[in-house]
Amino acid sequence: MAAEVDLDWLLQEIDVLAAISEEPAPVVTRVLFSEADLNARQHVKQLCTGLRLNLREDAVGNIFARWDGTEPELAAIATGSHVDAIPNAGKFDGVVGVLGALAAIRSLQAEGFKPRRSIEVIVFVAEEPTRFGIGCLGGRLLSGALRTDRALALTDDDDKSLRQWLHDIYGRETALDSVVRERGSYAGFLELHIEQGPILDRAGIAIGAVESIAAPATLRVQLTGEGGHAGAVLMPDRHDALLAGAEVALAAEQAARESQSRDSVATTGVFRIKPGAVNSVPFRADLEIDVRDTDLAARDTALQRIQSDIARISHRRSVSAATAILNQDAPAVCDPELLKTIDHSAAILGLTSLRMVSRAYHNALFMAQICPTAMIFIPCRNGVSHRPDEYASPKAISNGSSVLAEVLRKLAE
Ligand SMILES: [Zn+2]
Repeated sequence: MAAEVDLDWLLQEIDVLAAISEEPAPVVTRVLFSEADLNARQHVKQLCTGLRLNLREDAVGNIFARWDGTEPELAAIATGSHVDAIPNAGKFDGVVGVLGALAAIRSLQAEGFKPRRSIEVIVFVAEEPTRFGIGCLGGRLLSGALRTDRALALTDDDDKSLRQWLHDIYGRETALDSVVRERGSYAGFLELHIEQGPILDRAGIAIGAVESIAAPATLRVQLTGEGGHAGAVLMPDRHDALLAGAEVALAAEQAARESQSRDSVATTGVFRIKPGAVNSVPFRADLEIDVRDTDLAARDTALQRIQSDIARISHRRSVSAATAILNQDAPAVCDPELLKTIDHSAAILGLTSLRMVSRAYHNALFMAQICPTAMIFIPCRNGVSHRPDEYASPKAISNGSSVLAEVLRKLAE
């Protein structure tokens, strides 16, 4: 018998959570540590308690809600996502994976299912990078991908550190070492999420089984040339930082275009110049370049090529270049057995499914470092996300949560 998710409950809870926002509906804004973020997490904890799940919260704020199995010593099956939201976001990103997991558990409970393995819902803290400029803070710490001392020293735009924030919220000094989970802590991890791209919606396919997750490297480039009067400094004497930066941005584009891998992408998303006056030669250019791929070697090859291009360009233009790699995450390959279980579960429910790549990254990217991992995608209208008009249909949400319920049943029985 296939699980039947209580869609009315699920849609209602999505709306309740959407109303916990720093901005009025339809805008959802829940930046890490805002009142809305803390209240949303509190609300989810209450829902978990209502389902008689055992609650635990770690030192950084990741929430764990466990449905104990009849053999609790076995590694649990984990599922979950996040409830924080960037400014001016919609109500489905992350939330579908958290509330959809609770709805899945609710339906399994309602039919009297007794899991042999425990099932644990994880609500990851700070998936979005809004406050500290780094995505998946909770997942990174949990998987050990981010050192705890580096995390505590992260600062926001007001120069307030994570250490200070945690101190203010919990009223004590917080050590984060206890957040790290060892490899093998979980038998598997599944994240249900809206696609945030148009493939499923366009093709009319109900379920995406994510087989790989692209990962970013972020390169910060600081170019320092020589400024001067736009009229007085003649062209042979110029060391224009902006023009060097322009060449670097084009070199980044070319590195991705000429990569052997179809999934290589490079984006210069930050480009600031100083002094920024029409009659002054720019003496400084600050760039940030995001390079991604599903293939680690191809991504790192592109990154290296960009770095050597920067050295060549800055040398030729007699501009000094300082570079720093802000993060260099490994892409994830999802677990083939979990993917088969997703395909099979979709088939049981009479739903179409498609193997696909996640080009955005999620907590699943980091969970893949400690346990077999896969993601379940559902379509969202026109692939729109991170906007108030982000929309996933009730049917799509019900499909995703039902497939998750089937997968959890299979893995926990
Ligand atoms: Zn998300």
